[in-house]
Amino acid sequence: MLITGIKGINDILPDDVGKWQWVESVARRIFSNFGFQEIRIPLLEKTELFARSIGESTDIVEKEMYTFPDRNGQLLTLRPEATASVVRAFIQHRLHLNPTMRKFYTIGPMFRHERPQKGRYRQFHQINAEVFAMDDPMVDAEVIYMLLVFLEELNIPDVTLHINSMGCPDCRQPFRKSLTEYLGRVSDKLCSDCQRRRLTNPLRIFDCKVEPCKQLVREAPVLLDYLCNDCLSNFEGVKEHLTSLGIGYTIDPHMVRGLDYYNRTTFEALTPHLGAQNAVGGGGRYDGLMETLGGPDLPATGFAIGMERLILLLDEKIEIEKDSNRLFLACLGNECQKRGFQFAQQLRLRNIFVEMDYESRSLKAQMRRADKLGATHVLILGDDELAKGVATLRNMETSVQEDIPLEGIVEELLQRLRSAM
Ligand code: AMP
Repeated sequence: MLITGIKGINDILPDDVGKWQWVESVARRIFSNFGFQEIRIPLLEKTELFARSIGESTDIVEKEMYTFPDRNGQLLTLRPEATASVVRAFIQHRLHLNPTMRKFYTIGPMFRHERPQKGRYRQFHQINAEVFAMDDPMVDAEVIYMLLVFLEELNIPDVTLHINSMGCPDCRQPFRKSLTEYLGRVSDKLCSDCQRRRLTNPLRIFDCKVEPCKQLVREAPVLLDYLCNDCLSNFEGVKEHLTSLGIGYTIDPHMVRGLDYYNRTTFEALTPHLGAQNAVGGGGRYDGLMETLGGPDLPATGFAIGMERLILLLDEKIEIEKDSNRLFLACLGNECQKRGFQFAQQLRLRNIFVEMDYESRSLKAQMRRADKLGATHVLILGDDELAKGVATLRNMETSVQEDIPLEGIVEELLQRLRSAM
């Protein structure tokens, strides 16, 4: 029986890979201008890392993680997000002792057992940026700015920025009290999950996707109305810096971002073009996480961008650059093929794209393949040419053909192909 891939876990085929590489290269360029360095973290972590950071009663930890015991019985999880791992690595390698290690980015796959649909997959890719040990509102504004600059560079259309403040433990207490009271009044209308959340982690009711709960949440008290003076002035600071950078925003008091570790400013970049999956990227401050995971008490902020959603939104007209010169060797007959085989390797060593046919097909069939591969030049080598000590070089754009002596042909081809670039 045919073995297919897993639902919601997709292949990225060669025709699409160019877009992915381009998006990654733009991220690397822009993020490094902002002082970010790449960090590569593992796909697998101990389950407790995510349970403790993301929060036991979040959808991700409760329902979506790929968790299994390994052969030693240790419970492991395929990472559902990157922040927890970057923080873990920062603590583990004592990077706080090195003042050049403050801003990180990482690119790679994440795993969540969600219901697959357009823009939502079980393996998906994120570009993450994290900043540690800086708590000035300027940093929050700068991180948001970097996210928007990146989306603009990719030409993602109609992006809007939504922001909110999740306060701090001080403002959460009175808020939680008032939210719990409200939820108590409407508890008979809540779904069974939210009945439970009401008692364990009432803020998570804001994540609920069940329609009656969504309706009730719209009427619920919001954290923004309970901010303490420090959080209020911090949020004012972020808004002021956003405005000074020319960034427009909408304040969305109902946006709580699905993970427990957030505090103060959170944000999402939204698009109207992806139906229900309208968030292209999002993030926020998570000042307590480092300490929760056993590290120093350092503030942090960051964001994650969903790459599949970016790819869906890329302008079809984007021209991804290919190698400008592509040579195809059309060899006719055994002897010629052997000679061509050698030329191909020599040219590849010198950084030239070369492809050839290994199946001794007709010249016509080989020319067709050259065309499909987008060859700019074809070198035709047949017995007649070999006898004369030449090969024929055809320029596919101009259809001009000329004979080139086999003696010194590699150097000659290099010169022609490079100068035509
Ligand atoms: P989150 O880590 O949930 O804040 O998500 C950050 C970004 O990752 C979102 O804005 C999406 O663009 C993307 N994302 C999250 N979950 C998925 C998923 N299941 N499939 C595709 N993209 C996702």
